[in-house]
Amino acid sequence: MAKQEDVFKTIIAHAKEYGFVFQSSEIYDGLSAVYDYGQNGVELKNNIKRYWWEAMTMLNDNIVGIDSAIFMHPTIWKASGHVDAFNDPLIDNKDSKKRYRADVLIEDEIAKFDEKINKEVAKAAKRFGESFDEEMFRKTNPRVLEHQAKRDALHTRFSEAMNANDLAELKQIIIDCEIACPISGTRNWTDVRQFNLMFKTEMGSTADGAMDVYLRPETAQGIFVNYLNVQKTGRMRLPFGIAQIGKAFRNEIVARQFIFRMREFEQMEMQFFVRPGEELKWFDHWRQTRLRWHKALGLGDSKYRFHDHEKLAHYANAATDIEFEMPFGFKEVEGIHSRTNFDLSQHEKFSGKKIQYFDPELNESYVPYVIETSIGVDRMFLSVFCSCYEQQDLGEGDSRVVLHFPPAIAPVKCAVLPLVKKDGLPEKAREIQHRLRFDFTCNYDEKDSIGKRYRRQDAIGTPFCITVDHQTLEDNTVTLRHRDSMEQQRVDVDRLEEILSDEVSLNSLLRKLL
Ligand code: ATP
Repeated sequence: MAKQEDVFKTIIAHAKEYGFVFQSSEIYDGLSAVYDYGQNGVELKNNIKRYWWEAMTMLNDNIVGIDSAIFMHPTIWKASGHVDAFNDPLIDNKDSKKRYRADVLIEDEIAKFDEKINKEVAKAAKRFGESFDEEMFRKTNPRVLEHQAKRDALHTRFSEAMNANDLAELKQIIIDCEIACPISGTRNWTDVRQFNLMFKTEMGSTADGAMDVYLRPETAQGIFVNYLNVQKTGRMRLPFGIAQIGKAFRNEIVARQFIFRMREFEQMEMQFFVRPGEELKWFDHWRQTRLRWHKALGLGDSKYRFHDHEKLAHYANAATDIEFEMPFGFKEVEGIHSRTNFDLSQHEKFSGKKIQYFDPELNESYVPYVIETSIGVDRMFLSVFCSCYEQQDLGEGDSRVVLHFPPAIAPVKCAVLPLVKKDGLPEKAREIQHRLRFDFTCNYDEKDSIGKRYRRQDAIGTPFCITVDHQTLEDNTVTLRHRDSMEQQRVDVDRLEEILSDEVSLNSLLRKLL
């Protein structure tokens, strides 16, 4: 565990050192759980957003995008249930004065049983080698069965308490499990209380009678309240979707794990409106489609898993998370929810406007049902960053740090490097850079030895380095160095655009989805 934590710390340090992510307001000692993206980070982030946006709006005839405002009429948050129920159960340790989410403390406790079981399985697998039957072992080993029984009992008790909103029972579970504060080590807990996660501010001057408004905690409501506008002006017929990328704000109780849980973050959400009764078919469709989108990046299929929700919101009839294996375990990156007609019906009720769809095939009007896919840009960024980071041992005491970004989303696609800073090589290199910069983000670097420059590009994940040497001036060829294999290839300058396009274009990634 400690080792994984160290790896994560190293990754965070790398993200800062190479201009990917900075702590917000750093020169003022930072603002907790708020981050800024640097010169390379913003490129990676934009590419992730483009990949999502184009997969949604360009590959689907029936999905269009919008960009709604962050401020919205406060009644929207009443209608959506956020004013009354967008809460987390919090608990404080009286000695350390640290605040925790009660549900997270218990979930971590449940995860400990899973870890114990996995350890037993790993130990046995090593002992029995080839002949190991994991399924049989899990079903029959007394120690595994004991851990499993305790885990299941705790899990059931926890789910029941969460479903019943029973805060006293949540505290009792924490006491019964003897969960201690990781800082003070004591079990001196306050009661569990509900805490609303929305940020509130005022709009208008006080003299005019300012109105309380919220910073939106999700982008989805901006889509729901524009459903009619888009359906009518776009002449959309069901089923159809509306996609949006934008900032969301949550006053998270425990903000930790770098950009995994932030107070200001970005979401990419798509609401897919369907005929009532067809929602589970579409839920399944989007579950599979979204997983395919993730896997097309090639970060490793085994790093993903679904986590189906047992505790469903009262209006939902199916929900699952796509989890990714981060250095701190499998964690939610995207949620896929079948939300029935809850949101649109609520907005009908609170606004007094009819929000219905006339279905020409059925010759009737109804409030559409909705499947939502909701992914955090920052969590996606983190999953890409962590899984692409490698400290590579090259043998003979040599090593490098390399970010194996999928070329299509790499922040910088190529770097043009004159071998030496004289003999007309910089001029030739500049000429090549000027040619390529219209199609690719392209760096130019002439400082330090060529080896050092390669390492710098590896460390920001540039898939190609183009080295200009004396031979270039004679025959118009350059050395093309591949980041992952470090292989070098001699190619004609006139072929560079074609070679790079094949490898780094977003098209190549999008084509995998069809
Ligand atoms: P969690 O259980 O981790 O708090 P959630 O279930 O509340 O997440 P949703 O409301 O389903 O999350 O939001 C959809 C997506 O938005 C999440 O899958 C995640 O990628 C992202 N997201 C939510 N909260 C945060 C946050 N505080 N920081 C960064 N990303 C977030």
